[in-house]
Amino acid sequence: LFSSQSPSITNFLDYLYEKYLPLDEGNIYVSEPDIVEIDPNWFSICIVTTDGQFYGVGDVEQSFLIQSISKVFAYGLALEDHGRDYVLKTVDVEPTGDAYNSIIKVEENSKRPYNAMVNTGAIAITNLIKGKSPAHKLNRILKMYQQYIGHPVYVDTGAVVSEQTKGDRNWAISYLLRNFGMISGDIKETLQLYLQQCSVIIDCRDLAIMAATLANNGRNPMTGKQAIDPDYIKDLLSVMFTCGMYDFAGEWAYKVGFPAKSGVGGGILAVVPGVMGIGVFSPPLDKRGNSIRGIKVCEELSHHFRLHIFEPM
Ligand code: GLU
Repeated sequence: LFSSQSPSITNFLDYLYEKYLPLDEGNIYVSEPDIVEIDPNWFSICIVTTDGQFYGVGDVEQSFLIQSISKVFAYGLALEDHGRDYVLKTVDVEPTGDAYNSIIKVEENSKRPYNAMVNTGAIAITNLIKGKSPAHKLNRILKMYQQYIGHPVYVDTGAVVSEQTKGDRNWAISYLLRNFGMISGDIKETLQLYLQQCSVIIDCRDLAIMAATLANNGRNPMTGKQAIDPDYIKDLLSVMFTCGMYDFAGEWAYKVGFPAKSGVGGGILAVVPGVMGIGVFSPPLDKRGNSIRGIKVCEELSHHFRLHIFEPM
């Protein structure tokens, strides 16, 4: 079905778009209140197959912030920088069952943060990114995104400043991490880099290409470029599978059944290994921070095309 341009996929995406556009629920996360307007009706679904076919419906080119989806890619860069053993000593691979920005388990387990998909672990991962200066580290992150996406990306600096100003919880997490020796160095620099990595502007097509690159063993199916050492793909996908959807990860694994990561910008990046990447974008979020339309769309795609990774062929 996914091996040649298929009208049934296009039709199904149109059907999902029409069905879920009227779903009028949820709250929008605004990084820069009073400055940026976010339309609750922005909605897009994109699929990129591992052989480079693109399917898209809706606001495919509407820009939004990558937010927590960045955690997957920063994790990959840290693995390339330091290797698996060192990274695993710094950040564990256990789900928390808590909210993404919860601080409680750092205090409980003062050895290392639980996983790289929640803020505690993600800030510790960003602290590992190599570079001669903060600018050099940011450049390496932006270059990395470029490999996955196929074109340069930029940081929304307004969003960074705003999240820095109002992000007391992330400051608190960072200080607590340093208190326990889980991160080192300048807190301001690490937190700034983390917020820059989260405030990169992408669109739904980009999201699907990034997902397809992960589905394709780290090789971007559009450009043919290797974005990450294929050896680390299983690290990224297994942590996404168990921890990628905030405190909904268990239900997601059960119902949808393929690795994914969401962000409060409204994006969900999902990977069907060897087959395709899925990007869904719709800003209204449920109380856990997941895109409401995004979850519905992925549930239906999974059932319709039998994509659950434990579904018999
Ligand atoms: N910048 C956000 C934070 O760290 C990212 C949150 C998210 O997408 O989960 O608070």
